[in-house]
Amino acid sequence: MNNERLAELASDFPLLNNLVNLEELSWFNPNATTLEVGLPYVGLGEKDVRDASERLKRFAPYLCKAFPELEASEGIIESAIQAIPAMQESMSKKYSVNIGGKMLIKKDSHLPISGSIKARGGIYEVLKHAEELALNAGLLSPKDNYEKLYSKELKAFFSEHSIAVGSTGNLGMSIGIISAKLGFQVSVHMSADAREWKKNKLRSLGVNVVEHTEDYGVAVENGREAAKDDPKCFFIDDENSRNLFLGYSVAGDRLKKQFDELNIKVDGDNPLFVYLPCGVGGGPGGVAFGLKLAFGDNVHCIFAEPTHSPCMLLGVYTGLHDGISVQEIGIDNLTAADGLAVGRASGFVGRAMERLLDGFYTITDESMYELLGDMAELEDVRLEPSALSGMVGAVHVSKDHEYQSRMNLTLDKMQNATHLVWATGGGMVPEDEMAAYLAKSGR
Ligand SMILES: *Cc1c(COP(=O)(O)O)cnc(C)c1O
Repeated sequence: MNNERLAELASDFPLLNNLVNLEELSWFNPNATTLEVGLPYVGLGEKDVRDASERLKRFAPYLCKAFPELEASEGIIESAIQAIPAMQESMSKKYSVNIGGKMLIKKDSHLPISGSIKARGGIYEVLKHAEELALNAGLLSPKDNYEKLYSKELKAFFSEHSIAVGSTGNLGMSIGIISAKLGFQVSVHMSADAREWKKNKLRSLGVNVVEHTEDYGVAVENGREAAKDDPKCFFIDDENSRNLFLGYSVAGDRLKKQFDELNIKVDGDNPLFVYLPCGVGGGPGGVAFGLKLAFGDNVHCIFAEPTHSPCMLLGVYTGLHDGISVQEIGIDNLTAADGLAVGRASGFVGRAMERLLDGFYTITDESMYELLGDMAELEDVRLEPSALSGMVGAVHVSKDHEYQSRMNLTLDKMQNATHLVWATGGGMVPEDEMAAYLAKSGR
């Protein structure tokens, strides 16, 4: 984009100047509306989420068999919730704001199998594809116990098929691990951001890791190209996939059950705020969709992005969605939050979800590192940098009185609020790597 065009765009959208200056900022969405009004624009509904949830239940016996770590949860991939009172107190002091209500984290960082939120969408889409192939080949019937898929015969069948994906690291991890386990040939196109240990782990499982020196968009494009002329190769399209989105969305109903068990109330007087780290948008978009279906207008979803990669904020704020990238306005898309290093947002998530998202904000790498150290020290939870981006959401919400009054979030409601930080990754980070993160945080 030339300077003239950028100046023109910035005169319509003044926050662009602050974005280009890499400032930490928040933007509460004036177009946020009710579930009733916003839902039809998503193009997916309750039935789709239920279908995904049932598919995961069908696969539970297989997953149990293939991944013994899932025995305790009977094959269901789910994460715990944890209160973080010391962090809440420390943040209130650090940011000079009263964070009312209660802060919790959702530990997708510690999801089994791949240690990040991608253990939801990524694994789901591979399972769905495997099911389709096996059903069509007459090797599986919907009434079968899916444990059957854990067999030499099915493994041999899947080995004639391949899967390709582009990733900054974690999506490649989840898709690589589950695909290799089922028997597929799998190629993961990694962007320059991807951590070395993730590539090594995948190679040790027989995954074909293709390294690219460019960013996520280029890695995805290469995956798409490689799959294009091979009818037996299935490309998992992180930029557009409805199936990934639906895999993430089952989190909504499950969270509701967890809250019921923990006696955490969400209703008109007890609002729930959820802070979701955002890369291309599929993960947070899918989770937010599931949350909206589960909690309706009482849940408020807010996306967090690095100051160097604010692609979703940029796309929704300007209405240009995937028609603009952060690079086009002079932002480099270089961040330590490798899970979020995406310069151009999903082609469908922003358009589908923009009426159901309350807000967006950006955070610097320095802030993420600082919070990473605080979390380890105060709550004994170790996370990767991306996962800390959701932590300051409660600060933005608590400070923005214009937003609160527009949404009729009165003081008494704010005092009853639940602030849920979606911690999205970190559970599998090797010790030496974690020590390096902690050292950068100053601990
Ligand atoms: C991928 C990822 C996200 C965001 O998911 P998107 O679908 O890319 O928006 C957040 N946190 C971590 C750790 C991730 O790996």
